[in-house]
Amino acid sequence: MHLDVLTLVAMGSFVSACAGVMLLGAWWQSRKTPALGLWGLADIIAALGIASLILEPTLSRYGNCLLALAPGLIWKAARSFDRKPAPLFVALLGAMLVALAIVLPVTRHVAETLSLASGTIYLFAAATALWLGRKERLVARWPLLILTGVHAGVLLTGAYSILNGSILAGEVPSVRSLFGIIHFESIVFTLGTAVFLLALVNERNEAASRKAARIDPLTGIANRAAFMETAERVVDRCRREGAPVSVMMWDLDRFKTINDTHGHAVGDAVIQQFCDVANALLRPTDVLGRIGGEEFAAVLGRSSIEVAAARAERIRLAFAESCRFVENDEVEATVSCGLAASENAEEPLARLLGIADAALYRAKAEGRNRVKRGEQRGAVSSIIRVA
Ligand code: GH3
Ligand code: MG
Ligand code: MG
Repeated sequence: MHLDVLTLVAMGSFVSACAGVMLLGAWWQSRKTPALGLWGLADIIAALGIASLILEPTLSRYGNCLLALAPGLIWKAARSFDRKPAPLFVALLGAMLVALAIVLPVTRHVAETLSLASGTIYLFAAATALWLGRKERLVARWPLLILTGVHAGVLLTGAYSILNGSILAGEVPSVRSLFGIIHFESIVFTLGTAVFLLALVNERNEAASRKAARIDPLTGIANRAAFMETAERVVDRCRREGAPVSVMMWDLDRFKTINDTHGHAVGDAVIQQFCDVANALLRPTDVLGRIGGEEFAAVLGRSSIEVAAARAERIRLAFAESCRFVENDEVEATVSCGLAASENAEEPLARLLGIADAALYRAKAEGRNRVKRGEQRGAVSSIIRVA
């Protein structure tokens, strides 16, 4: 089958329109990712620009304006995906310069080169924006970045070839020429970027849902499942290193009374306050989790019972001080704590939590607002008490 360049151009325009509709459709369903809408719009505009190349020369000249606008929007889409500013004026600048070149008779002949050059700059800038967001560790970012970078390189080659005369601006060359290759690569770029952009957005949404499933929405700290998983890892690491590990169990005192007296909103604020205080006084490597309504646990790797006891005492005092008044109500909230430790982390996490929980029970029995150390020997339940 013989494929002529006009068929290739028509195909490119159709593929670009389909990709644009697909991305705009995805954006329409959940508007929280403007990058989908912007990239989709860019594809539709590129489809019109490519289609205009088949038309008579006067109209195809204006097509260059659209072909400069599409990469500008892709640049804006790539920046907006990583929530970076991308002024509309900058995105439109290339198209405006090409329009100016077309209107002025003296510069009309450079409009096509200018369009390719501005496309090159925008696409390199878009690839750079995707590269700068790489810390997010989304796999689909890489093929999207590579396709964008390669397309920028191909447009640059096109601009260079027109400048040195190997392609004549406005002519209809053979499908095997550089012009044909550019159009073929454009189809790969349009299809590939649409697929990988959608994959990228899905990947980010899935990562966000996975994270949300591990975080307690009221306090922003790990929930019970996430705490247990991370805490197990800390204990395992300490065991491998032969380092000590300590466990804290916390329970807010007479919390039901606080709710009944001051209302649920104040109760929630007290819970949040406890997490703020504990987070501020624990080390970044310590793991804090909300394991029940007003119950929290922490695992401190490489910490002896003495270090953990001193830290727990500071948290207890700081919390009582910060919760004397909450939202102008005299609340006087306090917290009790039970501790357990293992010198070389030989005890399993469940047992340490059981010992700490028993100590917490004693702290309550002895009058609350205190820190008690667990009895390391003897019969201790390894089941965490439920609130
Ligand atoms: P103790 O000193 O013995 O621990 O007494 P307590 O009242 O704190 O213990 P209890 O287990 O009887 O009450 C816990 C209360 O915590 C009951 C429940 O309504 C409340 N609670 C659990 N989760 C939340 C929450 O997310 N927000 C608020 N405001 N209250 C909560
Ligand atoms: Mg309580
Ligand atoms: Mg409780």
